[in-house]
Amino acid sequence: MTAPERPLDRTRLTAALEHANLPSLVAVLHQLTGDRRWLADPYRPTRSRGMDDNDLGGFSPEVRAALRAAAADAVTAWADGRPPAVPAPTGEVLAEIMSVAVGEPVPPEYAAMTAEDMGFAPAPVRTAPPNDLRVIVIGAGVSGILAAIKLAEAGIAHVVLEKNADVGGTWLENSYPGAGVDTPSHLYSYSFAPRAWSTHFGKRDEVWAYLRDVADRHGLRERIRFGTEVVSAVYASDDRRWTVRTATGEILTADAVISATGQLNRPKVPPIPGLGRFRGPIFHTAHWPADLDVTGKRIAIVGTGASAMQIVPAIAPDVARLTVFQRSPQWVAPNDVYFSPIEQGAQYLLDHVPYYRLWYRTRLAWNTNDRVHPALQKDDAWEHPERSVNAMNDAHRRVFTRYLEAELDGRPDLVTKALPDYPPFGKRMLLDNGWFAALRRENVDLVTEAVAEITETGVRGVDGAECEADVVVLATGFETHKILFPIDVRGRSGRRIDEVWGPEDARAHLGITTPDFPNLFLTCGPGTVLGHGGSYITTAECQVRYIVDLLVTMLERDIAAVECRPEVEAEYVRRHDEAHERMIWTHPGMDNWYRNDAGRVVSALPWRIVDYWAMTREPDLADFRTEPARR
Ligand code: NAP
Repeated sequence: MTAPERPLDRTRLTAALEHANLPSLVAVLHQLTGDRRWLADPYRPTRSRGMDDNDLGGFSPEVRAALRAAAADAVTAWADGRPPAVPAPTGEVLAEIMSVAVGEPVPPEYAAMTAEDMGFAPAPVRTAPPNDLRVIVIGAGVSGILAAIKLAEAGIAHVVLEKNADVGGTWLENSYPGAGVDTPSHLYSYSFAPRAWSTHFGKRDEVWAYLRDVADRHGLRERIRFGTEVVSAVYASDDRRWTVRTATGEILTADAVISATGQLNRPKVPPIPGLGRFRGPIFHTAHWPADLDVTGKRIAIVGTGASAMQIVPAIAPDVARLTVFQRSPQWVAPNDVYFSPIEQGAQYLLDHVPYYRLWYRTRLAWNTNDRVHPALQKDDAWEHPERSVNAMNDAHRRVFTRYLEAELDGRPDLVTKALPDYPPFGKRMLLDNGWFAALRRENVDLVTEAVAEITETGVRGVDGAECEADVVVLATGFETHKILFPIDVRGRSGRRIDEVWGPEDARAHLGITTPDFPNLFLTCGPGTVLGHGGSYITTAECQVRYIVDLLVTMLERDIAAVECRPEVEAEYVRRHDEAHERMIWTHPGMDNWYRNDAGRVVSALPWRIVDYWAMTREPDLADFRTEPARR
């Protein structure tokens, strides 16, 4: 818990409380005082609309003042030594406080996950018995950093092989103008490593700095081999070891391999004719040249996904002309604080008021994680499947349509081009970061003709019109279905993993473990990307805990190898595919990077995050064929 500041600067606290997120403060007040008054009207906040923080909680000015005054007293008393009345709520008690703080009923199953995240009922840290197990982690991005921290806590030796010269993965590689998260920063943080974020949605430099910082604070660099790209990993059944080969021909061996290569790592460059012909700079968004000055240049950008949506507003004011080639329009949700700094007052509360940071994050998690999940379930009785999948989804459509029309008011040409005809959330949802305002600019053109070819001097559409450009940007996404690509991974049978799975059809029990590949564990594996909301870091924490727990169990029980039983994976995949059949991403009418060409969803999680948390909470050895250690 936050350490009390002594003596407490009451004037500063009172001023800071003007910037409080009042729904968070209600929960803090109850924890500090134990007074149930704070859980009842008139102190019950309204629910947030969308991802809005709802700082004022829908309270009248009198109630706001009463909450702030009571909080100043309660925090002062706490700083003077009065212990919190409800120090670590769990179960029904936590669910009740949380329901008040978020302004709507929270199902009881969220209590255990939330209590763990808030540290009220932390997951036990299991340590392995003395051992000589060796683990190779591939990748030092968000998941690899986490794996290394948790392996060290468990007492398991490991080395991290990282192809780049530093940690950070996607946040190191993607340095295009405007790059940043669209998950709120306080949620896009490890549960054990909060940060004083400068903005509500961290920009790339700060997210990368955060990851470097976490790696440094945990002393990871000495266990990371930088500039070491893995090209193959081959399992040998006789000695139950993995042999890992690097791009320089070096060979390393390990008892277990953890893949932390992510799904958004290998750029996808579509086979557009003439790619090699263009005379100027042409590159994928993940390879934005550090020294490129776009000022006064004519830029053509292909694609309108999350990457393009960040680049376009960031460079539009500086370039001479910006032509955006859109294959499909995108649904875009409003967000008032996308560019807003965290006020000093709010920062003071996050740093000095007990439980405040935890409640602020918990509210973000509630608003962002699973709340939209029911809106993404197909309703077979729904009468308008051509535009939405159920009534809630249709309501989203109305809200986003109204927003788009208001943003593009007076530009019916742009409304026609930019308004999607498929259901909202059918592709990955995007947040407005100035996208519509950028489209309205005089120097920006939105072209909806398909790209026919790249010429020496620009991009030609299928209508024959050529857009002359000095720079061509390919914002065309990533090889999301080729899990582990391009590493040559071979398991017990000697077959490549993509042969075992089938092309672009990866599958794994819990997205983590797959038959024929003993002691290979995936993070960000198939079916685990969060398409409906939430922070990837939450899922990574589930996966890494599962993997490290399993390794500790193996060591405790003298097990040398675990291999997922085929029937366990088959049943999991059956449930996964069945759940996806009911979800929006298998709905006809749009394409998305979650599903492969055959229509099977390979990338995204079909369940709520709370369900996945429960599924991965404890590995079940019965799911595996095990081989004892030789003595
Ligand atoms: P993406 O979402 O896959 O978008 C690729 C874009 O390129 C789409 O508009 C696609 O059109 C278009 N495209 C592909 N091939 C094309 C072709 N041959 N001709 C014309 N257009 C073509 O890729 P992304 O924008 O890099 O984003 C990938 C993911 O990375 C995101 O969904 C997100 O998960 C993550 N990301 C997150 C953030 C953030 O947090 N703010 C930022 C960047 C990326 P279609 O839609 O028609 O396929």
